[in-house]
Amino acid sequence: MVASWTRTIGKSRQTSKDSARFSNTEKPKILLIGIPEADPSYWTMNIAQAPQGPTLRRSLFLPDFICQKINSHLKYIYNPKKNAPYVGMHLIKQNLENDIKGGIDISLIDYPTEKEIMRITKKNFFKIIGIGIGCENKVYEAKKLAKKIRRNSKNKEVSIVFGNYGATTGKKLGILTEADGTVLKDSPEEIEAKEKQGKYPYTGEGVQSIRAFLLNNQGKLGLELKVKPDAPMVSYPVPDPDLPPDNFFLRWLAIKMGFFGTPKDMNKLAVSLGCMNKCSFCNTAKNFGNKTFLYTKAQEMYQAMKKQIDANEARKDYVPETLFFLMDENFMRPLANTEELCRLVEESGKNIRWGTFGDIRGLLEYKKKYQGFRGLVRGGMLSIWIGLESKADVFKKRGGASIDEVETIIRELQELGILVFGSFIPGLSIHTEKETRVLINEDEIKMKLIKEEKLNETQLRKAIDAEVAARKEKGQYDLLNIWEDIQWWLKLNTAANQVMMLTDTRLVNPLTKEPVLDLSDEEFGHTFRRDTHPNISGKRLEEIDKEARSLFYQKNGPVALRTVLTMWDGYKNLKDSDNPAEVRATTYYYWLIKRSFQAISLSLVFFSETIFENCSGSFLNRLAQFLDDFEKSTPPKNDLSDEYQRVFNKDERVVSKTAKWCAARLRTHFIGKHLHKDLGEMDLVYLPDSSPTVPNEA
Ligand code: SF4
Repeated sequence: MVASWTRTIGKSRQTSKDSARFSNTEKPKILLIGIPEADPSYWTMNIAQAPQGPTLRRSLFLPDFICQKINSHLKYIYNPKKNAPYVGMHLIKQNLENDIKGGIDISLIDYPTEKEIMRITKKNFFKIIGIGIGCENKVYEAKKLAKKIRRNSKNKEVSIVFGNYGATTGKKLGILTEADGTVLKDSPEEIEAKEKQGKYPYTGEGVQSIRAFLLNNQGKLGLELKVKPDAPMVSYPVPDPDLPPDNFFLRWLAIKMGFFGTPKDMNKLAVSLGCMNKCSFCNTAKNFGNKTFLYTKAQEMYQAMKKQIDANEARKDYVPETLFFLMDENFMRPLANTEELCRLVEESGKNIRWGTFGDIRGLLEYKKKYQGFRGLVRGGMLSIWIGLESKADVFKKRGGASIDEVETIIRELQELGILVFGSFIPGLSIHTEKETRVLINEDEIKMKLIKEEKLNETQLRKAIDAEVAARKEKGQYDLLNIWEDIQWWLKLNTAANQVMMLTDTRLVNPLTKEPVLDLSDEEFGHTFRRDTHPNISGKRLEEIDKEARSLFYQKNGPVALRTVLTMWDGYKNLKDSDNPAEVRATTYYYWLIKRSFQAISLSLVFFSETIFENCSGSFLNRLAQFLDDFEKSTPPKNDLSDEYQRVFNKDERVVSKTAKWCAARLRTHFIGKHLHKDLGEMDLVYLPDSSPTVPNEA
């Protein structure tokens, strides 16, 4: 394990050093930075939002303020932090390095400290400093930072540019002005004016806009661009490694206890911009429009992935896998690209696993063509993040799939070990706490039927009932009880979940008057302050949003464990396959679980009923069954498994004997307590009393 750690830390430190150490070449310099103090858990919190840990039992007789303090830490126990790279900024770097005549020296720091920024801007003569503002609530910090940079900078004439959604909102609200720097997003009027003057507008898309900025300011900057703003872009994988704790003692402890297993070689790869759907709430659809392919052919995408795999394979401490997250809002559309990538991955014989975003429409098309999803497993698919939003097909992005078909698609994917990350929205305009109504007004349909088909009263009733049943099947509701919707979300039991209130920011809706800048990172996009919902007050929606997140934890368990349980299901269902690509997938599942098993076992302490409120009986029972099965299992027998065994043995040797003994004791106790228990008695999670109108699901 130590070797892997050194490599990971080494790699990370190298990146940091590379960022701060500037070459002695005469090339002009650009610096791209994220905002200091950005919450590193932002990414993970979106699909593993708090609570991801237990709360103390109320019967513990501890003073309330102590309980609250402890609980505020406990809720993140299963939610590891991760400094995910800003892929958009990396894309800008990768492209400008190709675009500028004579070359350019670009330094990028995703998560800098303010001190670090001041040190390097004082020492180096940057022509441009680009600041990415991912969150709207960081606009004031960005404004102050730009001021400090100007004061401190070696180049007093440095050009400062702002990008990302936060920058756009900052400009719309009048907080970021030209005196601070240039926001790379023009209003329709500015676009018109620029076009009249023969200048290039800033569309908000990063690469296009920074190219436009360079062309518009060519004289001042002395940088010559080889391309026009809308020229094709390049995109390469951006490494996104798992990092152990920075603190020396915590790092040592994590190694000794086996909390930080063999690290994963994750990479992010942007493969398209924009989206084929047009959900009314979405900034992506608004900012980037329809889908633009960064790779028009799957073969080229595979080649970019292959380069990274070759680099990994050349390392001595290579873990026999390479993981990618393919940034594409609807990767299954068009299907041909997905099919081709799957074919290339399968034929490569390599252990390549990838996750992506997708929609039900694309999955339905795939299923109709192939009668199942095994082809995706063989082609390396590991996870798919789907904007399910609601039981109701509010945004018309399911290609006509019925509620039943949606449930089946999710179940079938997860049975093969493919992790479904589901996004859900409390606060849709059809949500109510009152009764669900498929049709509020029957009269319109009645009139139509009478006019067109001249039906008598009995026939009319029958026809309306049939219409209601058909709409219900397709998820078309005039009003949907929000608790009925939440019940459906829980029932899907997706490996991970994102619950986000439908917000109305100025970025999406220019008519919104109230600023949203007083929100914390955690609250951004999750809080509904205004009473604009037709059926539920803003305050009540906030309570429901919070409750829904808690129910996910209580009913379905922490995301970190759910993902492991889903992979274990995939392993069990595919382990006897004789297809080599499926065997590779099951081998990956097995070893991914094996290397987390020690940490999972130790974490069982958080299910102690004497100290903590517990998760549902069905979850605890499923977990106990998994622990029991896995303990009795043996590794798959194949070359890939041997490779994994070699790496695992090396890492395993470092874990202390005491930690292993504790893990085994906790496991034995947990299995004995929860395996094969009567779920009727154990399933203690109910929806809150405040939702008495929840109709039973038909
Ligand atoms: S599918 Fe997702 S990315 Fe596409 S418009 Fe809807 S919310 Fe946005």
